[in-house]
Amino acid sequence: MKAIDLRSDTVTKPTPAMRRAMMEAEVGDDVYGEDPTVNRLERRAAEIAGKEAALFVPTGTMGNTIAVKLLTEHGQEVICDSRAHLLDYELSMVAWFSGCVVRAIPTADGILSWDEVRRQIRAVNPYSAPTGLVAIENTHNMHGGTVYPIQTIREICDGAHERGLKVHMDGARIFNAAAATGLPVSEIAAAADTVMFCLSKALGAPAGSMLAGPAALMAKGRLYRKRLGGGMRQVGVLAAAGLVALEETPALLAQDHANARFLAEGLARIPGIAIDPGKVATNIVVFDVAATNLAPVEISARLKQSGVLLNPINERQMRAVTHYDVARAACQQALEALAEAVTR
Ligand SMILES: *Cc1c(COP(=O)(O)O)cnc(C)c1O
Repeated sequence: MKAIDLRSDTVTKPTPAMRRAMMEAEVGDDVYGEDPTVNRLERRAAEIAGKEAALFVPTGTMGNTIAVKLLTEHGQEVICDSRAHLLDYELSMVAWFSGCVVRAIPTADGILSWDEVRRQIRAVNPYSAPTGLVAIENTHNMHGGTVYPIQTIREICDGAHERGLKVHMDGARIFNAAAATGLPVSEIAAAADTVMFCLSKALGAPAGSMLAGPAALMAKGRLYRKRLGGGMRQVGVLAAAGLVALEETPALLAQDHANARFLAEGLARIPGIAIDPGKVATNIVVFDVAATNLAPVEISARLKQSGVLLNPINERQMRAVTHYDVARAACQQALEALAEAVTR
């Protein structure tokens, strides 16, 4: 039996159309800038993001790392929320590569406000690390796929720019934000200096992310990409899948969101599980299992025996992520397995 894999949307396998495009991809040496498929992907991604240029990078982590490097100077502070991916899951690349420290702001749902950001900006003085950058995560991963209201993005970006600061959007799942709000990706990212998004998650490509922004910055970003080991050669075989992902998958994301809501509503009915289904706007469902008196790792182990893969994220919470390889019927099965696992 095929496992129902709700661990992440990174587990999506390339579709038949992607595999065909990969096989037929026209390629060249991308370090020389000669891979026509990569060049096409970068132009298309820039267009979708509403930016001058884009850079194909192997991972989202590398995209965020390059963006932070481009937008800061050594010794500056980067403001983000306290559960940001670039703080908790990127091996402190903000410090390691860019020489910056993070100023983390705790939030209820991962969404920063300009007022919270404004109060953390350090004035120039002989003691503080000067603030250089604000990083916002949209959708927010660990807070359950929450979406920034467009007005909040504009307030943060306008406020930051007035103070001479830059803004990077970690839009790993910006297409989910677009599906949830009905706004084009270009509008969501418009006010930010740079935006990163992943092709490898719910969009379904086997690998790759895009960093988009001003052409001069992306040209400089190519050098950082090479330094980080991301100078790939005939990588059009991957870019081809990315191009298909950009055209094929965004229209399917609403179904993932409906499935996530369905999961959340079912979870809310299981004794000992706490979640507010009204807050599930995209494809990530974070729920609290503390009242089951079972450790999340134990629940995870029991689920695995029934063919459901679902990860703990800490001592009390677990995370389910929907994607096109998990249909509604599989979500129903996962709910039944969970109900059984926590009452057994
Ligand atoms: C997955 C993710 C990334 C990084 O992506 P990788 O390709 O795994 O390096 C960055 N930010 C967020 C919010 C993510 O969910």
